[in-house]
Amino acid sequence: MHCKYQLQWYDNIPIISWLSLGGKCRKCKKKIGYAEILAEVGLAVAFVLSFVFWPNQDGLLSTDILEIVKFAIFLIQLTIFTVLFIYDAKWCELPLGLMLGALGVAVVFECLAIWPNLSEFNWLSFVGGLLILPGFYFVMYKISNECWVGGGDWILCLPLAVMLADFWLGLMCVFAANVIGSAVMLPVAIKNKNKKMKVPFGPFLILGFLVVFFAQELIFNLLVI
Ligand SMILES: [Zn+2]
Repeated sequence: MHCKYQLQWYDNIPIISWLSLGGKCRKCKKKIGYAEILAEVGLAVAFVLSFVFWPNQDGLLSTDILEIVKFAIFLIQLTIFTVLFIYDAKWCELPLGLMLGALGVAVVFECLAIWPNLSEFNWLSFVGGLLILPGFYFVMYKISNECWVGGGDWILCLPLAVMLADFWLGLMCVFAANVIGSAVMLPVAIKNKNKKMKVPFGPFLILGFLVVFFAQELIFNLLVI
């Protein structure tokens, strides 16, 4: 960021490069920052947690090929989400190409998920999820004239809605993202009460999605009662 040094492949080895350089640029020795190392460690932890909380873990352990492919695709998606998370948190920006890539990955994931039970798939609920999750942020974006939420947020919701594929899970994702966002941002807002703040919402949407994705069985059980 400071000296425009072109990173070499050996500067990009997760965790190891950052540690061996002591968190400083190889050329100008300015500090790189903690976001990079936190993201690298965080993604490793997220991979492990994804395995531990995977909804169909028996499928993974019994070497069900379809389930293993689904899990691998989920990990690819998690990597894209991590990049989007950092981009938005650092620069308040969600690159369109990355979000469309995530949408493509989400469609492949969902096709594999519904393929074995295609006749039982609830298309109405799927469309409802698309309307409530990206729809909510699209309406907020339009009526507030880009003031409350950014234009990228509703597009980021598209892959999330495709992977949740259910109206109630979509609604829970909106709820979870807003709760997490309020919990994190309210103390900051109170501290800087006189300043106008730009709040990146993408990280909260991604966290809300992950909570709902891994708690989906629990949510469905609660809905039945
Ligand atoms: Zn430098």
